[in-house]
Amino acid sequence: MSDAEHQRLAALYRYEVLGSPPDEALDRLARMGQSVLGVPIVIINLVAAHSTWFKSSVGTHLQGLRREDACCGWAIESSGAFTVPDIQADPRFQKDRMLTAEHARAYAGAPLITPDGQRIGAFAVFDLEVRTFTSEELGLLMDLAAVVMDELELRLTALHWREAQERSAYLAHHDALTGLPNRLRFFDRAEQALRQAERLGHPAAVMMLDLNGFKRINDSLGHAVGDGLLKAVGERLCEVVRSEDTVARFGGDEFAILLPELREPLAAMQVATKLLEAFDRPFALAQQAVRTRASLGISLYPHDGVDAAALLLAADTAMYSAKASPHLRYCFYSEAMSEAAQAKLRLQGQLRSALERGQLRLHYQPQVNLRTGKVVGFEALVRWPRADGSWARPEDFIPVAEESGLIVALGEWTLREACTQLVAWLNAGAPVWDLSINVSARQWESAGFLDMVRRTLRETGCPPERLLLEVTESALLSELSAAPKLTQQLCELGVRTALDDFGTQFSNLSQLQHLDVHQLKVDRSFTRGVPTVPKALALASTVITLGHSLGIPVVGEGVETEAQRATLKGLGCDLAQGFLFARPLPPREVEKLFLGGS
Ligand code: C2E
Ligand code: CA
Ligand code: CA
Repeated sequence: MSDAEHQRLAALYRYEVLGSPPDEALDRLARMGQSVLGVPIVIINLVAAHSTWFKSSVGTHLQGLRREDACCGWAIESSGAFTVPDIQADPRFQKDRMLTAEHARAYAGAPLITPDGQRIGAFAVFDLEVRTFTSEELGLLMDLAAVVMDELELRLTALHWREAQERSAYLAHHDALTGLPNRLRFFDRAEQALRQAERLGHPAAVMMLDLNGFKRINDSLGHAVGDGLLKAVGERLCEVVRSEDTVARFGGDEFAILLPELREPLAAMQVATKLLEAFDRPFALAQQAVRTRASLGISLYPHDGVDAAALLLAADTAMYSAKASPHLRYCFYSEAMSEAAQAKLRLQGQLRSALERGQLRLHYQPQVNLRTGKVVGFEALVRWPRADGSWARPEDFIPVAEESGLIVALGEWTLREACTQLVAWLNAGAPVWDLSINVSARQWESAGFLDMVRRTLRETGCPPERLLLEVTESALLSELSAAPKLTQQLCELGVRTALDDFGTQFSNLSQLQHLDVHQLKVDRSFTRGVPTVPKALALASTVITLGHSLGIPVVGEGVETEAQRATLKGLGCDLAQGFLFARPLPPREVEKLFLGGS
């Protein structure tokens, strides 16, 4: 394609008229041409590389033509108006569909010429009879073409103006260096988020983050490196947060982060940790790796303030506390929060070391067949003996383990320990007991879970058909979960799945039909109300019926009284577990009570 044709097409595309919707103003000009020149057909024809496109037309159903066949292809080359008195008699236009399909005989067209001299199309009229157009008529045609161009020019100006407006609106709300929202936009978003948090009653957090020693980097390595670092930091921070969070740059090396929705206030510490971990890897800038660290301050809505300004001030104050402290990289504004966060971190550390040092224990709670009264299996429950001789409750440390990701290692340990124990008992002549193990949602969804189960079974020699994995509703029945596939794969291994704490969450029951589930566990909270609280009784009975209609045995949890046992048995519940039969017991006790050991 020639340079000139390139320029011509560039001009055509600049107007953004190709493929655009029908256009009232141009249609009106076409109709005007029709009446002024007394012709049946008028087209405003834009000429692209190989085809033409009718931006407006009257009197024809065609939408465009092949450029080489069309009279307009010639009209755009012409200095004045171009006419063909008899198309049929002209060998150049024998394939022109205006002739073959519309039976047009005469043509007159004036080129559409842009102010910089590019010819992008033609204003053209057709008559059904052979006709010679007068010079006055051709003058009119040239005028109409000029009006079309004026109209297009006007739009181009409006288009540019709108783009300029959008650009300046963008610049007013964004930081030019990093492209991140700026202070103004951050305020907007924060105010919006706080109104929403107030309405829905959940906490939110504002964070201020500041690079350590940025001035030194800027001075020693130069501003180009400094700018590159700020950009890279912005990008990395954005990778860490969720899409609904906002990372903004306030200027200098100051970044602000908005977390519009938190599950609970302390959840902000996880995000803070992740944001700061983003600085663990060096930043690769213009052939050199730059390392930098940051300090971060956190303020919480509504705890530390109810508007954006107050929260930012508090976060800023907290950031300076973090900077001033030799061992803290982040700080909450409120001391109580900082302490709670520290306590949680300590707990995480202690749990990790307890796990590594093999200090965790499993206790086993018997499950009883309600019909025969015999012990048929055990649920393994993790126990953490504290240094002061007390037992930490799983309710307190399982969530901590889940948040920190430690649950995956903890769960692996639990499975291995329990399988090893069962094999030892079976070797010591135990009856064919089942073994139930709790699997947390995070562990269930972790990569390699299935492999880990397979490996543990192989290495411990535990028979897969003795194993039941207890998973809660939220992990099993959420619509998007991979549970159906996983339960099936476990089933192929010979391992069964139990639905734990059934009835406590609002889950999508229809999901049940896609799952290979082998046991339902009625939650303790229902058992507690049996038989006196009618609603609890109704729910327990519904779960039992549901289980049976699916062909799945049901376990009643938390059976503490004889009345509860009798009622569940009466409702047809298959198995039961609870303090009435036994508390979770250390292995020695299990052996003493159920293996005839001493
Ligand atoms: P869960 O799976 O519902 O476990 C049953 C809980 O009920 C156990 O609490 C058990 O001690 C308690 N319990 C048993 N019988 C009775 C009774 O008659 N009355 C009352 N009031 N309670 C009874 P525990 O051991 O404190 O465990 C609490 C939760 O922690 C478990 O609930 C389970 O979700 C989780 N958990 C325990 N061990 C593990 C583990 O190894 N891995 C995972 N992921 N979670 C575990
Ligand atoms: Ca359980
Ligand atoms: Ca349970």
